[in-house]
Amino acid sequence: KQRALIIGAGIAGIAAALRLQKKGFQVAIFEASPHTGGKLHAIQQDGYRFDLGPSLFTMPHFVDEIFTLYNEKPETHFEYIKKNRVCNYFWEDGTQFQANAQVDDFIVEAAKTFGENEENIKNYLERNKEKYDLTASLFLERSLHQAKTYFTKDTFKAITQLYKLNLSENLNAVNEKYFKNPKLVQLFNRFATYNGSSPYKTPGIMSMIPHLEMHFGTFYPKGGMHEISQSLTRFAEEKGVRFHLNTKVNNIISSGEKVVGIETDQGTFDGDLVVSNMDVFNSYRNLLKDAKKPEKTLQQERSSSALIFYWGIKKEFPELDLHNILFSEDYKTEFDYIFNKKELFEDPTVYINITSKETPTDAPKGAENWFVMINVPANYGQDWEKLKVKAKIAILKKIEKCLGVDVSHLIETEYCWTPVSIENETSSHRGSLYGASSNSKWAAFLRHPNFSSQYKNLYFCGGSVHPGGGIPLCLLSAKIVADLIPNA
Ligand code: FAD
Repeated sequence: KQRALIIGAGIAGIAAALRLQKKGFQVAIFEASPHTGGKLHAIQQDGYRFDLGPSLFTMPHFVDEIFTLYNEKPETHFEYIKKNRVCNYFWEDGTQFQANAQVDDFIVEAAKTFGENEENIKNYLERNKEKYDLTASLFLERSLHQAKTYFTKDTFKAITQLYKLNLSENLNAVNEKYFKNPKLVQLFNRFATYNGSSPYKTPGIMSMIPHLEMHFGTFYPKGGMHEISQSLTRFAEEKGVRFHLNTKVNNIISSGEKVVGIETDQGTFDGDLVVSNMDVFNSYRNLLKDAKKPEKTLQQERSSSALIFYWGIKKEFPELDLHNILFSEDYKTEFDYIFNKKELFEDPTVYINITSKETPTDAPKGAENWFVMINVPANYGQDWEKLKVKAKIAILKKIEKCLGVDVSHLIETEYCWTPVSIENETSSHRGSLYGASSNSKWAAFLRHPNFSSQYKNLYFCGGSVHPGGGIPLCLLSAKIVADLIPNA
C-alpha cells in the first residue's frame, strides 16, 4: 500500500488524512502535542469546560461531507444545531441589537434599531450574495495556482464582472456607501475580523463574509466546538488512520524532485507523499531547510492574533447569548493599534462566547463559562505578560460600561491564552489566528498553494495556505489537496 504521511493533526490534517485513506493510502499523522485538533482544543478547569480556540461554527456541510464520503450518516458521528439568534451586539450608549438568523427579520429589526432604510439593507445583502456566487468556485474551491482553474466558464464570468467585486475600495468604504448610521457600518465592518484583517484595509469583496453567515447560518456542535476535531479524530481512527501523538517532526527528507520521508523525535518514517498541516512559514524554516523558499509568500503580513481570558463567572446573565460583542467607541483607532502600532488599544471591542447557554453542564449551576476575547496584534516580541494585565483592566471596564456590571468579583477561575501561547502550542507563526492577513487585494494570490513547486509529492493544507484560515476554509484546503492526488 502507498503511504501518506501527514504533519500536524489540526482540523485540515485530520480531514486530509480521511480523504487520502478513502483514496486507498495507508495514512499516518504525526502530531507534536499530546492531543489532536490543534487550535480546536478544549480544557476543563474547576468545574468549567472551555473551548480554547474557534467559537463560531459556519458551513457545517464541509464537516458532514467527510462522513458522507464514506457513505455514513454524519449525525451518527457528529451533531449540531442551527442558531436562531446569531449575535448580541452592545454599545456604551445603551444601544443593543440582537442579530436574527432569519434574514427578513434581520432587515426589519436592523432598519428599526439603526434608523436605516430596509431596501438599502436588502440591496447590500443581495450584492454580497452576488460577490460570493461570482467568486466562491474560483477563490475557495479550487487551486488558484493551476492554469486550468483560469480556463473555466466561472472564471470568465467573474473577470467580466470584476467591477462588482469592490476590489479597489476597502470594506469600510463600501459599507459607508450603503449606511448612514456608524453603528451599522461597524457591525458589518466586524466581518473583516473573521479572517484576521482590518475593515479599513481589506478589499470590499470581503462583504461576502456576512453572506456566508446570514445565508448559510451559524451553528453549534453538540458537546462544543471541540467535538468538530474530536468526532473527526474518532472517525479517522475507526477508518484506520494511525495517529502518532507527542511526535514532533523535525525534517522532511528529500531526494531529487521528490520527498521520501520525515524525521521525527521518535524516528524516521518513509512515505510516498507528505502533507504538511503545520504553518507553512515553519514548514519551510524548520522542515525544509534546503528547499527554495517562496520568500514573498512567507513575508506576507500575518493576520491578527487574540488575547483570551477563560473565566468561570458565578452568575447568570440573561441578556447575553452564545455570541456577544461589546463594541469599541473608536473602531478605526482599534485597528490602527492592531496592524500599525502593534500595541493594545485602551478601548477594545470585546467578544464574549458562553457555551453554557447551549450546554448547561459546561458550567456549575447558576454560573457561566465566559470566553472573553479581544483582537490583538500578531506577536512581534511585545511584553505579553504586561499587556495581559493591561488587557484585563480594559476588558473589565468595557463590560462595566456596556452591561453595567463589574464582573471582577464574579470570576472564580481564570485561564488565559496570549499570542505567545497560540504560537507555542500550535506553532502558528507570530501566533496569528488565520495565517496571512487579507489586508491586500493580492493576498489571495500570494497565499501559498496547496502543493510544492519543487517537490512533486509534497502538499500543504491548513489555515496558513490557500484558500485561508477558519474551519471551513481549512476543510476546503484538505479537499483541494486530496483532489490533486490520484488514487493510490
Ligand atoms: P492548526 O489548528 O493550526 O494545527 C496545526 C497542528 O500542527 C497543531 O496541532 C500543531 O501542534 C501541529 N504541529 C505543528 N508543528 C509540528 C511539527 N513540527 N510536528 C508535528 N506536529 C506539528 N475559525 C473559525 O472557523 N471560527 C472561529 O470562531 C475561529 N476563532 C478562532 C479563535 C482563536 C483564539 C483561534 C486561535 C483560532 C480561531 N479560528 C476560528 C481559526 C481556526 O482555529 C483555524 O483556522 C484552524 O483551526 C486551523 O486549523 P489547521 O488545520 O490549520 O491546524
